[in-house]
Amino acid sequence: MENKSKEPIYVTKTYLPEKAEYETYLDKIWQNGWLTNEGPLVKSLQIKLQNFLDVPYIQYTTNGTIALQLAIKVLELKGEIITTPYSYVATASSIIWEGNKPVFCDISAKDLCIDPNIIEDKITDNTCAILATHVYGIPCSVEAIEKIARKNNLKVIYDGAHAFGVNLNNKSIFNYGDLSTASFHATKIFHTVEGGAIFSKNKALAEKIRHTKSFGHKGDDHKYLGINGKNSEFHAAMGLCNLKRIDDIVEARKNLFEIYMEGLKMLPLTFISIPENVRYNYAYFPVIFENAEARERTQEFLEKQSIFPRRYFFPSINTIAYMPRGNCPVSEEISDKILCLPFYPQLNDKETNRILTAVKKSFER
Ligand SMILES: *Cc1c(COP(=O)(O)O)cnc(C)c1O
Repeated sequence: MENKSKEPIYVTKTYLPEKAEYETYLDKIWQNGWLTNEGPLVKSLQIKLQNFLDVPYIQYTTNGTIALQLAIKVLELKGEIITTPYSYVATASSIIWEGNKPVFCDISAKDLCIDPNIIEDKITDNTCAILATHVYGIPCSVEAIEKIARKNNLKVIYDGAHAFGVNLNNKSIFNYGDLSTASFHATKIFHTVEGGAIFSKNKALAEKIRHTKSFGHKGDDHKYLGINGKNSEFHAAMGLCNLKRIDDIVEARKNLFEIYMEGLKMLPLTFISIPENVRYNYAYFPVIFENAEARERTQEFLEKQSIFPRRYFFPSINTIAYMPRGNCPVSEEISDKILCLPFYPQLNDKETNRILTAVKKSFER
């Protein structure tokens, strides 16, 4: 008899490097006696990320949310920021936290990113910026957004929390917009336990971010209103370990992506499509059902078998009680019909088959 193990499978599993490798960095921290405040490991991680991603300036931060808040702060944005309702709540909550107002602009069903065709309808005299998310790592319509921004004198920030390692037209996605941010949280494809970054393209802004994330002063010169957005040597050490493996991680995700596509393509599901000019990172495996009932049926069926996909993103941010409303029918509908399936390189063949079989069976009843 086959042993029908019902070990739970969750939507993701954090990648952990060899413990011994992490310990070699711990030894360095003990030798240096330097734990935080732009120590040698943080500096080394920043340089390695700068080279790996091919970006001019990077500031490593405590997390991806503080990176968004710092981006809004250093650009001195005041007023309405046009943003997407289809993202993690941190995108819009950062806008409010910084004293601005999110104005929700619906998404395109094609790429689940902000729909550039309706952005201009949302512009008022108070609009100061556009903050858009590269959803699941698929780039926004950056050219259309840039055109609108230039014409209307708006700043552009991209929430690139999902987009580590993604290139558009052979250029890092983090090089688009006035500023881009990333999250290096444990659930993301490249992680430093907690962590994030801001990418900028000019030296003055990079320096401003560097000081703003460190209480706003340089020595005794208090130049900016600052905050503590620094990260530690221990977090940087995790990043240094994981960066060495990132190419293998993305390759393994690509293989798994192809196995899922092959296994599920006959079902009435819609998958994300990767544009030709994009080098993708295979960060997530979302599937869109024909309707909410079908999504719920599969979700319940999987959960009974201890497989836990995640409704991500749900709810559409414009429906959250403390958020301003917005007319976003596409975002609301997608968030009702979408599930992210368990998707991470540590899944073995047996687990992968268990997931694919369960999804297929959920359609048979
Ligand atoms: C994870 C995530 C964030 C927040 O990043 P943290 O590092 O967890 O603060 C912001 N935006 C999006 C789209 C995310 O997925």
